[in-house]
Amino acid sequence: MARYHIETYGCTSNRGESREIERRLRDAGHHQVEGPDAADVAILNTCTVVEKTERNMLRRAKELESETVDLIVTGCMALAQGEEFRAEDVDAQILHWDEVPEAVTNGECPTTTPDADPILDGVIGILPIARGCMSNCSYCITKQATGRVDSPPVEENVEKARALVHAGAKEIRITGQDTGVYGWDKGERKLPELLERIATEIDGDFRVRVGMANPGGVHGIREELARVFAEHDEIYNFLHAPVQSGSDDVLADMRRQHEVAQYVDIVETFDDYLEEWTLSTDFIVGFPTETDHDHEQSMALLRETRPEKINVTRFSKRPGTDAADMKGLGGQTKKDRSKAMSDLKMDVVAEAHEEMVGTERNVLVTEQGTGDSVKCYDDSYRQVIVQNASEYGLEPGDFATVEVVGHQTVYAFGEPI
Ligand code: SF4
Repeated sequence: MARYHIETYGCTSNRGESREIERRLRDAGHHQVEGPDAADVAILNTCTVVEKTERNMLRRAKELESETVDLIVTGCMALAQGEEFRAEDVDAQILHWDEVPEAVTNGECPTTTPDADPILDGVIGILPIARGCMSNCSYCITKQATGRVDSPPVEENVEKARALVHAGAKEIRITGQDTGVYGWDKGERKLPELLERIATEIDGDFRVRVGMANPGGVHGIREELARVFAEHDEIYNFLHAPVQSGSDDVLADMRRQHEVAQYVDIVETFDDYLEEWTLSTDFIVGFPTETDHDHEQSMALLRETRPEKINVTRFSKRPGTDAADMKGLGGQTKKDRSKAMSDLKMDVVAEAHEEMVGTERNVLVTEQGTGDSVKCYDDSYRQVIVQNASEYGLEPGDFATVEVVGHQTVYAFGEPI
């Protein structure tokens, strides 16, 4: 869990995006603090309306860089003129706002709400199925707060899911530190059974998104899980399995509970069962013991498995963790590796979205977007934005068929058919 400071400049759209960043950070257990000097990470949401504003943004970025451990720059100027920050030698991660919450996590798993009660947010129902994990990653402080996995019975979670659907949820997000180890503490991993029962026993038109599941937990249930995904349209064909590194040496130093080959097995199994699916993964770049060769192995793994969604986090030390005591890499090395991986990520993700153009997709509208747009997700949990939504009468909770007519790097644009 990180302490963060956020500053927002410019229009109401920027402010809305910052609110969403704050909401997601809060849901993941991070804490907002007053002032960058008390924060692990500062977030600068920039505006670029006039030249004077640009100069102010660059000046503020430099100040924040010197006042906090890590800096993330997002917003209009970051996306349109990210090079200016680099030209001024500002040491920051430059990200689309949607990527900020993941980057703040520093490779740790999200935390669930303390009482693990479901939350209904519009048509999205958030269902924490268990608390805790079975790992002890050397860079993680979340573990200190959450402990070992503690899994309520499947029946209890099915009832919570049913209550969410009855209350109006159209998308159920199954969350937990590590959903793949749900049930492990009771002697049997139960995620496939839970999904099957939600899909078959609950009446209604809804979708289920499975939250983060570490490769170590998924590997042993990969066949069952892929089969359940394939058999039930209710479940998005989406798996978030954070590999974190393409080097087994680094994974061992991180004390991850998987090896690279197991992650590749999972990808191959899902490829065998599903015609189309979305692989989401995370990489930590610049872990203290990561050599140039290790970094190249991570780059090669990314090229080989080509995830459609990738979170790249530049390693930073969290106090009280074992990794914080390791001798770190130089800032420039971390910066160079992070840039190389982020550039590769952009190419891989853009290619995946380019391939969507011209295809027809069934989507669920989940949220209002900016202006008169709505945010939708297709069966593989790829984000599709429909503009002029009121003309089509589309609102959150509706299902529609769209043709993909274009894309940005991390999402597509669709028009209802
Ligand atoms: S799996 Fe690792 S990173 Fe995730 S909560 Fe457990 S110890 Fe932390």
